Amino acid sequence: MADKIDMEECKASNGEAHLDEPVLNGLDTHKKSGTLPLSERVKRIVKANLLVILTVAGVIIGVIIGMTVREVHLTRTQIVYIGFPGELLIRLLKMIIIPLVVCSLVSGAASIDPKALGKLGGWAMLFFLVTTLIASSIGVIMAFIITPGAVTGSKPIIAGLDDSVPEPKEVIDSFLDLIRNIFPSNLVSAAFQSYATAYKLVKINSTDPSSNITVEKVPIGTDQDGMNILGLVVFAIVFGVALRKLGDEGEILIKFFNSFNEATMVLVSWIMWYAPIGIMFLVAGKIVEMENVGELFASLGKYIACCIIGHAIHGALVLPAIYFIITRKNPYTFLWGIFTALATAFGTSSSSATLPLMMKCVEEKNGVSKHISRFILPIGATVNMDGAALFQCVAAVFIAQLNDTSLNFIQIITILVTATASSVGAAGIPAGGVLTLAIILEAIGLPTNDISLILAVDWIVDRTCTVLNVEGDAFGAGLLQHFVDRTSKDVGEALSEVRVGQTESAPEHSPLIEKRGVEARPNEKESVM
Ligand code: ASP
Repeated sequence: MADKIDMEECKASNGEAHLDEPVLNGLDTHKKSGTLPLSERVKRIVKANLLVILTVAGVIIGVIIGMTVREVHLTRTQIVYIGFPGELLIRLLKMIIIPLVVCSLVSGAASIDPKALGKLGGWAMLFFLVTTLIASSIGVIMAFIITPGAVTGSKPIIAGLDDSVPEPKEVIDSFLDLIRNIFPSNLVSAAFQSYATAYKLVKINSTDPSSNITVEKVPIGTDQDGMNILGLVVFAIVFGVALRKLGDEGEILIKFFNSFNEATMVLVSWIMWYAPIGIMFLVAGKIVEMENVGELFASLGKYIACCIIGHAIHGALVLPAIYFIITRKNPYTFLWGIFTALATAFGTSSSSATLPLMMKCVEEKNGVSKHISRFILPIGATVNMDGAALFQCVAAVFIAQLNDTSLNFIQIITILVTATASSVGAAGIPAGGVLTLAIILEAIGLPTNDISLILAVDWIVDRTCTVLNVEGDAFGAGLLQHFVDRTSKDVGEALSEVRVGQTESAPEHSPLIEKRGVEARPNEKESVM
């Protein structure tokens, strides 16, 4: 009975009542309140979905403004000014990333029993791995069907193409860098720098004077600009677990991170209302800025189509099908609930920048509990990139086709595995995936300078790619919520801790603290591992 009451409270506090019908929020109330005039019903639906409606309107108006202003042929400076309101949205979202990721992971890890944490993390990783592998396979299959690189004659030449491609790195060094970044040597610099291997040629002194001078390419460590979010994520989780282990002594810090987290989410809810305007100008600015569009589509259109169709298949069919098969709930209703976040991903091309809005959406519209969303989404935004893996596979096969290299079975498996692994290392920033594409090309022995072609059209492909990246994270959170709801009864102890967490989390505190603060004091030692 107590369990049942907890469950009801949990639903109410987490908005699970919306789970199956976010679109019909207004109608739902109507059903209960008998007959309402049509205008009232419309008003309620509009009110319940106002942000999504504004976001859709923002995208449409952005396209119209972009198309109109494009005709005026603005100078580069004027184009920069047009993009200013969009730039502000990106700056606001970036500002919030570090406090949000660190505080939500510390308080998330501290509020869930370590056993349940391991289980949840394990399921999430399994889901992320399987879906990324499926996305990679779709990429390879699409590239073989559409054959974007089967050109007669020479490779596509695009005027004004930026030839600066990322410096190629040995595959082993790429993976070692990934592991090094998991353990940042300095937490402060991890907030804006990551480790990257560069190479130095060192002359080898031979004892034999008659032999030729030989040089060795020696890897050296460098710090490059860009947040080491992987390191911060790992640190925050481990720190949260350590705080929980401290027991009473850790409470004060857990409380601190909880309130920091909640305050950050309040800021997010304010920023959300600015998102439609920001997205409108991001879209308009990009349309005004586009150059060589016809030429790009003529020479790389098949590659673009291949990526976008692949993203659409995975995002509109495969992920929803997985969600439906497991939960028996309408996946498109779930997608509608996160529409604002998806539009933000499209506008900003950054999973990290979309994270704050995605958390708000899944919690408020799709009934995912805070403990799950704030633990899983930052991890997903960092390591789960279905869209990136998919387009990297298309790009690898495309470059092989351009260079008339036929791929054998082993090379295809290598592409699938390295794309899945390198998508983990890709940063959730614009063009993050192109930078790690070099790992795949190196692994199968293809020239990395063709990456410049991929970069030329990445501003389009990266948008659908990022939408897919964040959609995968959101479905992961939705499935974990379902998993916790369903299994806590059978699995008992470990996962019920998560449910206890949810029910007690309504007043925005850690369940751990609540439990101790009130009558559960006698048991507190048991709950601290
Ligand atoms: N822009 C993508 C993201 O932020 C990463 C990528 O380029 O693949 O998720």
